[in-house]
Amino acid sequence: AKAGGGGTFDFYTEELTAHAFEQVLLEGSLRQALATHAFVLHYQPQLELNGERLHGLEALVRWQHPELGLVAPGKFIPLAEESGLIVPLGRWVLAEACRQMAEWRDAGLLSAETMMCVNLSTKQFADQELLGVIQRSLRESGLDAGQLELEVTESVMMRASDQVIPQLERLRALGIKVALDDFGTGYSSLSYLKRLPFTKLKIDRSFVSELPEDASDVAITKAIIALAESLSLDVLAEGVETARQRDFLRVHGCRLAQGFLYSRPLAAVECERYLAAFGSR
Ligand code: C2E
Ligand code: CA
Ligand code: CA
Ligand code: CA
Repeated sequence: AKAGGGGTFDFYTEELTAHAFEQVLLEGSLRQALATHAFVLHYQPQLELNGERLHGLEALVRWQHPELGLVAPGKFIPLAEESGLIVPLGRWVLAEACRQMAEWRDAGLLSAETMMCVNLSTKQFADQELLGVIQRSLRESGLDAGQLELEVTESVMMRASDQVIPQLERLRALGIKVALDDFGTGYSSLSYLKRLPFTKLKIDRSFVSELPEDASDVAITKAIIALAESLSLDVLAEGVETARQRDFLRVHGCRLAQGFLYSRPLAAVECERYLAAFGSR
């Protein structure tokens, strides 16, 4: 630290150091969590708006912390991305989601068409082994490639270079589906939609939450549904919380929905009960 006169500078440096120190601690515990299998997946149902048949389940990771309890992904995914830990964490998520899905399928709890949707960080596309990791998850679980859907955000398109397009195309060639998550919130140019082999658009919750009152959200949502239709993409609305939102989406031709109106993300045992009740209704 500078001697004398540089109070503000010194303070700033110490702040940064304290922050860096915390980051290191958190990164250490994330690493440990990975080694001790302290992550769990919760599953949120996706439904068909017409008839309300089950379309799929989205796997959402949580950290089971000894003192903090269940930690939401927003609290640790950014650091996992920064530190590169997202790669091994993402591999675990893929393997676990496929394993669980195959188990439920074998138990007769869901059909062979029900999708398992797994979030993939843009960073994971830089992993040369991504394709092999996915193939191994499918092989070891016995899950059909046609039942796996990967969700990527628009940030993947900013790197829609050399690596990403061939990776996506190879995934598609295996029969794996690819959804564009949080659609409308990123920086995408619409031309990417034509070039990249997506199969589904997920309308971001921010456009859904004020339906049908907010006129611009109404216009945007209708436009995304029309865009999906004209590009022959499937379309799902995220964050559906009210019957009015559901009715609006249904009337305007949105095929799929996900949100608290139907179900919150469920722990595996809860999801099992949900699936059992669903099958018998
Ligand atoms: P996302 O992919 O957009 O996931 C949807 C988030 O919205 C989930 O939050 C879910 O609990 C929440 N949600 C669902 N329905 C509703 C609703 O009706 N109302 C409201 N207010 N919220 C709803 P969650 O589980 O906290 O996940 C946050 C984000 O963390 C995810 O956003 C995703 O970007 C990321 N994430 C979660 N799991 C993974 C993972 O395994 N890998 C990666 N790379 N990212 C993950
Ligand atoms: Ca998602
Ligand atoms: Ca989303
Ligand atoms: Ca979102």
